Amino acid sequence: MARTKLVAGNWKMHGDSAANQALLDGIKAGAAASKATLAVCVPFPYLAQARAALSGTTIAWGAQDVSRHAQGAYTGEVGAAMLNDFGCRYAIVGHSERRSYHGETDEVVAAKSDAAIKAGLIPIICVGETLAEREGNITGQVITRQLDAVIACIGAAGLAKSVVAYEPVWAIGTGKTASPEQAQEVHALIRARVAAVDANVAAGLQILYGGSMKPNNAKELMAQPDIDGGLIGGAALVPADFLAIGAAA
Ligand code: PGA
Repeated sequence: MARTKLVAGNWKMHGDSAANQALLDGIKAGAAASKATLAVCVPFPYLAQARAALSGTTIAWGAQDVSRHAQGAYTGEVGAAMLNDFGCRYAIVGHSERRSYHGETDEVVAAKSDAAIKAGLIPIICVGETLAEREGNITGQVITRQLDAVIACIGAAGLAKSVVAYEPVWAIGTGKTASPEQAQEVHALIRARVAAVDANVAAGLQILYGGSMKPNNAKELMAQPDIDGGLIGGAALVPADFLAIGAAA
């Protein structure tokens, strides 16, 4: 099955109204040259701004997290239906910064994925190993554990409506990228694990690479057979860099 490519920006906790407008305008101006679908995942307060800027364009927008609860007395949480209300297509779930700074377990990440899907959003489900785990030769085990929790919760039917992002923790924001071979090895493992449940879903699943993807390494990474795009942090804050990654897809 032919898979299209997706290049999604993860703005993290950066920006303000003026800076975001410049960034959105810059991305919009060059989006026609992108071979990949482009998306930006912005901080919650700026979803309305993203919607205003991007409605009617080919660029999608989304959030960086979502509550696992549908609604109710959950102070500070933002529900999937609310994101849908703001026109989001995507919600990142299980980013390593959420897992490590906010104690999100595999089960919480799986429940968030489920909540996103039930509201009609596409979760971008992040998995990835730490440096210690890679050096301890347990990368495969860690990725499998993270993925299996998601599979147990949403099944193949849920994964058919999801995107997976492989983000080695040691490569995020460090300027140290996984080599194309290292990334491909894990992407293939992810696809094989999903194929064991449903071969068709596995064949159609978009698996993004994230972790210091930049214009100078994007082409080689995305040329790998199981790498279907990127989840971009730092380079997503510079229109020319983000667009260059989209053009390299
Ligand atoms: P980076 O971040 O591109 O700055 O490494 C990627 C991410 O955290 O999603």
